[in-house]
Amino acid sequence: MTLPPPHPAPPDQAPGTSTARSEALFQRAQRVIPGGVNSPVRAFKSVGGTPRFIASANGATLTDADGQTYLDYIGSWGPMILGHNHPAVREAIVEAAQSGTSFGAPSEREVLLAELVTRLTGTEKVRFVSSGTEATMSALRLARGFTGHSSPERKYTVKFRGNYHGHADALLVEAGSGLMTNAAALGQAAPSSAGVPPEYAALTLVADYNDPAGLDRLIQERGHEIAAVIFEPVVGNAGVLIPSAEFLAALHRVKAAGALLIADEVMTGFRLSLRGASGLLNLEPDLTCWGKIIGGGLPVGAYGGRAEIMDFVSPIGPVYQAGTLSGNPLAMAAGLATLRELERDPDIYTRLERYTAALGEGLTSLAAEAGLPLTVNQIGSMLTAFFLEGEVHDYGQAARADTAAFGRWFQALLGAGVYWAPSQFESIFVSGAHREVDLDFTLTAAKQAFSAAKERP
Ligand SMILES: *Cc1c(COP(=O)(O)O)cnc(C)c1O
Repeated sequence: MTLPPPHPAPPDQAPGTSTARSEALFQRAQRVIPGGVNSPVRAFKSVGGTPRFIASANGATLTDADGQTYLDYIGSWGPMILGHNHPAVREAIVEAAQSGTSFGAPSEREVLLAELVTRLTGTEKVRFVSSGTEATMSALRLARGFTGHSSPERKYTVKFRGNYHGHADALLVEAGSGLMTNAAALGQAAPSSAGVPPEYAALTLVADYNDPAGLDRLIQERGHEIAAVIFEPVVGNAGVLIPSAEFLAALHRVKAAGALLIADEVMTGFRLSLRGASGLLNLEPDLTCWGKIIGGGLPVGAYGGRAEIMDFVSPIGPVYQAGTLSGNPLAMAAGLATLRELERDPDIYTRLERYTAALGEGLTSLAAEAGLPLTVNQIGSMLTAFFLEGEVHDYGQAARADTAAFGRWFQALLGAGVYWAPSQFESIFVSGAHREVDLDFTLTAAKQAFSAAKERP
């Protein structure tokens, strides 16, 4: 069970014997940062144990503060499709940094990235922001501004149970991702957040994912009041959920009611194809949101669509949206380098699919051998192994997973040098840096981990 160079050998210590520095850093962090982390799911709350503080990342691996190296399946939660510390991306950032780090005035890289994004995705205009959260909240404001122009009563938006669109108030309603992890631990059915007034949440209508009849009914009853329907074209934030053709057809019917269809491709954009999930599944949204890969590991988000809609944004339109660091030259450079690499090597998507499908098949048969119920949802380089029996098409089905068994499996994998997402309700991500030997290494570790998951403490 060895990894050839450039991967260092996997840790040979027993799980948890060599986390002294991460533990010390976590103690210090908890004194000065809420929960010791700057984004909740990093805290290992649902799987237990000490979060590893990462010192460096290279290719498909992460190395922690104690010097242990892990095969990484998080990819910084999506952005690192080329693997960590990719030379083309690193060099682009270094080169950009030599000319200054922020201008507060337009610069050429913004034009280049906007030209590349619009060409690759078939949109007409795009506005850059600094996170996925900003992209979705700005797209919703734009949708209200645009549709409200002709019908001012359109103040409602629709989202789907278990979809996550960042942490703007109006979108923290029945949301997935870290909220779902917490809610499962609390046994709640409808996670939300403190600090969101019910009056805000009341403007967000919630429907079930993969329920075309439910969506049709909602649109029939309230379509004239709805400015936009926002959705994850493939869900990653309730674990991976794949949309049915009937559901995608129902989504496109909302346009006939005068609502805008907003594809939240923050996770799937440039991941499922160069044209994202929309390319893979033949979607025609009115607006699209991006994040993660579009910044190549630096903070970038974006939203875009037809010019007639995008021209409602300030300074030429009445919908205000701004950002001190929007279009930051270092972030644009990282995004440009990443998207250029993907365009140069479009076969990467076939390789990612092949690796990830083989990973899914391997996990399915290992779990069966171990006598553990497991359902794998996989598409392209996204995969969730749900610890449950039966198909998973929506939030309610995902929430039935045995999170305790998942937690034991996660810990055993981590001890064997495989860093899986520390939550049952997340997608893992395969990168272009993952190789055949990594697949073998993962499946060997997973086999032991399934035995460990079966043993109740
Ligand atoms: C990650 C994510 C977001 C939020 O992006 P941030 O950059 O974390 O604000 C929004 N939507 C989807 C689908 C995501 O996966």
